[in-house]
Amino acid sequence: MVDYVNIFMARLQAKNPGETEFHQAVQEVVESLSLVLDRHPEYRSAKILERMVEPERIITFRVPWMDDQGEIQINRGFRIEMNSAIGPYKGGLRFHPSVNLGILKFLAFEQVFKNSLTTLPIGGGKGGSDFDPKGKSNNEVMRFCQSFMSELCRHIGPDTDVPAGDIGVGGREIGYMYGQYKRLRNEFTGVLTGKGLNWGGSLIRPEATGYGCVYFCAEMLTTRNQTMEGKTCLVSGSGNVSQYTIEKILQLGGKVVTASDSDGYIYDEEGIDAKKLAYIMDLKNVKRGRIKTYTEKYPKAVYTPIDRSKDYNPLWDHKADCAFPSATQNEINAKDARNLLKNGVYVVGEGANMPTHPEGVRLFLDAKILYGPGKAANAGGVAVSGLEMAQNSMRLPWTKQEVDNRLNLIMKSIHTTCVECADRFGTPGNYVNGANIGGFLKVADAMMDQGLV
Ligand code: NAP
Repeated sequence: MVDYVNIFMARLQAKNPGETEFHQAVQEVVESLSLVLDRHPEYRSAKILERMVEPERIITFRVPWMDDQGEIQINRGFRIEMNSAIGPYKGGLRFHPSVNLGILKFLAFEQVFKNSLTTLPIGGGKGGSDFDPKGKSNNEVMRFCQSFMSELCRHIGPDTDVPAGDIGVGGREIGYMYGQYKRLRNEFTGVLTGKGLNWGGSLIRPEATGYGCVYFCAEMLTTRNQTMEGKTCLVSGSGNVSQYTIEKILQLGGKVVTASDSDGYIYDEEGIDAKKLAYIMDLKNVKRGRIKTYTEKYPKAVYTPIDRSKDYNPLWDHKADCAFPSATQNEINAKDARNLLKNGVYVVGEGANMPTHPEGVRLFLDAKILYGPGKAANAGGVAVSGLEMAQNSMRLPWTKQEVDNRLNLIMKSIHTTCVECADRFGTPGNYVNGANIGGFLKVADAMMDQGLV
């Protein structure tokens, strides 16, 4: 099997040169799946995995727009339609200068497994642009979103491909894109999720990824007869996922001591309480300011700017019980993972996608901590997006309580799938194998049923 993995990866790398994040994401999955392919040669002969790493469709396009100075700007737009075996393509749009094909392919590939785990009928996709919304006026963001959607609208639809938000794409961007879609297609349908509440959005969608991640960690803790009560937590980021991760940790009786953005992080030894969180939400969602400002309002907190000459992130070097990386990919390297373990962290819930470098993952697995990989732990966001699609199809909104209950049940079910699959394939407690195998089996069986397409 080691040979199979090596040959598979050598071919993938040769065919997709330079796409390092995509290679990283696939390598992790192939290692887990070697356990399945050993027992099920039918998946090997049907080349299921070889088909799954090849996107069904990749769309790239030019996004021209005009800035406030009247200068013409050109960005690149992407949509990766990765796999539609179990439902319409579904996955977020990311607007960030680092966006490229390799990053979006890694995200789309992971999305296929994650969406399968949610129990809902949704396939996997991802998209975005190298556009940076930071520092742009609302009008500039609107003009960009309208230009982006003018092309994207011909490739998506409520039964074909349903994008949502991700880094740099929140309620404002979804609003502008939805407006343009509706204008061009003359239809009011559930073509995007994360919509505003009074025009088709679902209650709990903004909260879902963060809440779901904490629900998942609470489930992992029950396997050790523990709860979130009294746990000290490190959270990175201060965007959508981080904000609602912090909120749910507080509701479950935990304490959060850090938050960050791409410039640096704050450490608040007294804890970020509900009032301080409201300040962060206003700072980030309304004023669109930087996390550094937190220390002006709460001077006992300490701000540390990012120091790129360091080979570790000091945010992960504080005493704590739990860590919630919720910013971006590869934000925990091997040294950070060692620091976390040294400082007593034994629960990791990945709100972000692939935030832990493979060496760090190995350290967590070897230490046998409760390590919830992103595919499982952050699936709550897309799960509630799936629930938003259901409400749009019925044209009936559900209450907050109903959506939150369903989210909680879905996270419990994902946890059970992970535990059972890890057990069944001989690696109890390994949530990485559990999530990869659980996500794979449903998609693989659907692909077998649907023939060579
Ligand atoms: P967001 O609202 O745009 O927030 C992202 C946060 O991460 C910001 O604080 C941002 O700081 C920071 N960040 C972004 N890139 C960074 C970098 N290269 N280095 C350091 N910090 C960085 O995005 P989000 O929706 O919370 O997404 C965060 C993560 O969760 C991503 O990995 C995303 O794929 C994943 N995720 C999101 C959802 C969802 O429903 N939104 C669902 C599943 C997974 P700046 O403001 O300085 O850029």
